Amino acid sequence: MEAVFTVDGHCDTMLRVMNDPDYNFFSENKKGHLDLPRLQKGGVGLQVMALFVESKFKPFQALPRTLEMAGAFHRLIDSKPEKLSLITSREKLKKIRKSRDETGLLLALEGGEAICSLESLYSFFKLGLRLVTLTWNQRNQLADGVGETCTGGGLTRLGREIVVEMNQLGIGVDVSHLSEKSFWDVAQICENPLIASHSNAFSVCNHPRNLKDDQITAIVESGGIIGINFSSYFLNGTKGSSIEDVLKHIDYLVRGWGFDCVGMGSDFDGIGFTPVELKDVAQFPVLARELITRYGETNAVKIMGENWLMVLDKVLPSS
Ligand SMILES: [Zn+2]
Repeated sequence: MEAVFTVDGHCDTMLRVMNDPDYNFFSENKKGHLDLPRLQKGGVGLQVMALFVESKFKPFQALPRTLEMAGAFHRLIDSKPEKLSLITSREKLKKIRKSRDETGLLLALEGGEAICSLESLYSFFKLGLRLVTLTWNQRNQLADGVGETCTGGGLTRLGREIVVEMNQLGIGVDVSHLSEKSFWDVAQICENPLIASHSNAFSVCNHPRNLKDDQITAIVESGGIIGINFSSYFLNGTKGSSIEDVLKHIDYLVRGWGFDCVGMGSDFDGIGFTPVELKDVAQFPVLARELITRYGETNAVKIMGENWLMVLDKVLPSS
């Protein structure tokens, strides 16, 4: 059986590209979670690639580091344009859905430290940026992250302006990692669907990175999506997990809120411990088969990729 068209809403593989001289994105690596041959094996037609700036660069080196990482990302695509396609619009999204030979990559930023003004946001938009996780766990000039437990802070004035501008340009607003106050501030002003690219359900595993039920409802009411994170810590709070834990979170979401709001958000190359059956991106078909057995092919196809395509189709610019 041909692999189900899969969209993965989050990975940190650009960190590996930057930091590991033995890693090659274009060949199958023994280490790491993701490379082009394994994306192809896994049926991944669209992979969101996040630029994650490590804390040691923040705040003052965040901009140069982000630019370096964006350069490395574009170099990957430009060195194999027949295999990789930069997805920046609804038009390109449609093409990649039909392509058998190309893998689509969507550029995301995890933590908005490099975005200091509307003009700098526009520069990144021109570099192809189409999804921004406003914060990592810390506070930045846009908002408080989930790690700022004692401050109670939400979106800043600049953060509000940036969210409004992201809506207009066609850049997705990613609420994963936000503090609860920031989340609700974003939910109030964001006109586009809310995207939690790599978070799970708090009621299944009470980790602060997971979403409370009322947050899930707000995301679903906005027409948004929740990408299931494969970190064992977010699945069951321990280092050890299995595909059953992933299925528990998916089951909780689809039973409570239906089949349109769940997608993949593996966090590959950003997490230390994965479910034993889902050790890398090539294993997505194992999950797809389980979902087909449980929910039937139409719903499984939605969860594996169609839901992400629907949301991006509402968010991205037309061409
Ligand atoms: Zn993350």
